[in-house]
Amino acid sequence: MVSLTFYGGINQIGGNKILLEDNGTKIFLDFGMNFEEHQNYFTEYMPPRKCNSINDFIYLNLLPNLNGIYRRDYCKHMGLDFKEDNSVDGILISHAHIDHVGYVHFLRKDIPTYVSSETKAIMEMFSRIGAAGFEEFTGFKPSFQLISKKRGNGFKRRDARDGLERRNVRVFDFGKKFKIDNLEILPCRVDHSLPGATAFIIYASNGTVIYTGDLRFHGRQKEWSNDFIEKAADADPIIMISEGTRIKEKEARTEEYVQKESTKYINKKKGLVIANFPIRDTERLLTFYNTAISNKRKLIIEYRQAMLLDLLRQHGIENLPKSDNENIRIFYPKKSWGLVGRNDFTDEQIKQDYSSWEKNYLDLDNIIIAEEIRKNQKEYVMFMNYFQLNNLMDIKPKKGSVHIRSICEPFSEEMELDQKRIDNWLKLFSLYPERKIHSSGHACGPAIFEMINKINPKKLFPVHTINPEFFKELPHRKVIYPKYGKKFIV
Ligand SMILES: [Zn+2]
Repeated sequence: MVSLTFYGGINQIGGNKILLEDNGTKIFLDFGMNFEEHQNYFTEYMPPRKCNSINDFIYLNLLPNLNGIYRRDYCKHMGLDFKEDNSVDGILISHAHIDHVGYVHFLRKDIPTYVSSETKAIMEMFSRIGAAGFEEFTGFKPSFQLISKKRGNGFKRRDARDGLERRNVRVFDFGKKFKIDNLEILPCRVDHSLPGATAFIIYASNGTVIYTGDLRFHGRQKEWSNDFIEKAADADPIIMISEGTRIKEKEARTEEYVQKESTKYINKKKGLVIANFPIRDTERLLTFYNTAISNKRKLIIEYRQAMLLDLLRQHGIENLPKSDNENIRIFYPKKSWGLVGRNDFTDEQIKQDYSSWEKNYLDLDNIIIAEEIRKNQKEYVMFMNYFQLNNLMDIKPKKGSVHIRSICEPFSEEMELDQKRIDNWLKLFSLYPERKIHSSGHACGPAIFEMINKINPKKLFPVHTINPEFFKELPHRKVIYPKYGKKFIV
């Protein structure tokens, strides 16, 4: 008998944590963080307390109150029961957006976590950079532990330098079934704004369960999503859990549109072209790479993007440009002492401005600094997100420079406040108003309805949407609205 319990993604975009149980086998479908929910309680200035995080998060309903699934080091320190034999048998991660993977940090390391190769690459990137402090997705530094001192008596606190432990991350092949206990699972590649996105077909004891993850039908790889529909329909499912981020929208701009429109827009522009797009969206990176080349420009990316391109390549992804491609430059911003590009300091002194993972590319021939961009503005399309706008003071975009916004519109009060600050920067450099050219990572309403009708499940659970009521417009379909922590037995 299959049951589903939802601990996130209900009437909200992201934060999916769905427990599927079948004859004693327990798996989670994603284990994500919901941004809005998180921001209801925490700010940059009052971040979560690491020392009591799991207790605090359970209290705030951010994490499910389940004994035995959380990491041992945290449980011990926080006085939580650690029931050895009360874990889950696996986690299926649909893709590495934080709202799907963000709370994996808190899980015990022995739980097998099943991911695509690309998803693993991005999880590794998060683990290495670890900006937010709760991103130990692949590597694991045991916390709150005392170890004996190398010299002298007594104990010291264990820290990062005392070694990493690996999580049990298992990479699946698309289109190849694998098993978790008695459950058979078919991972299907789908098109989304992040490489490696996966939908799952789960063959349970009394029928098939479909989980879409996040997907779209208007990207360069829409065929992947269409193939998934076919396979899911063939499985004659009893349950489908569908995303509905843009269920209200009637249409979707395509990725081709972004490429065509931006190519046309920057044609004959005399200054620098700045493009803001999601930093890990390599499809969009490819779009602007193509846009730059057709305008005889080069694409300037960030070192984090260079690292992602390399990690993806190491994981067998070959349709993306290499970080040392002749049409790519890697931007090094001034940090700390701001020495990059100075010749009155030694290499070693310059490198001290950057943390160990940041300095990886500094020796390459294709790095670029603000001064060079300033001198040859019409030769480049430059990636820049809103956290890097201060570099404009070094670059000083000249007349004829433009700014393309290739991200979603602000959808919260906080984002609107941010937008005011962004507009100030853009006005200062005559880049205002920004030109909006975007294509969403999520399918629009009609495409979702078409998918559901083709797959034809007996019961439908909408998740990852603030407009679940729109699913009611689907004729002849049993729609079930999940409630937090309530078990649905099928
Ligand atoms: Zn996503």
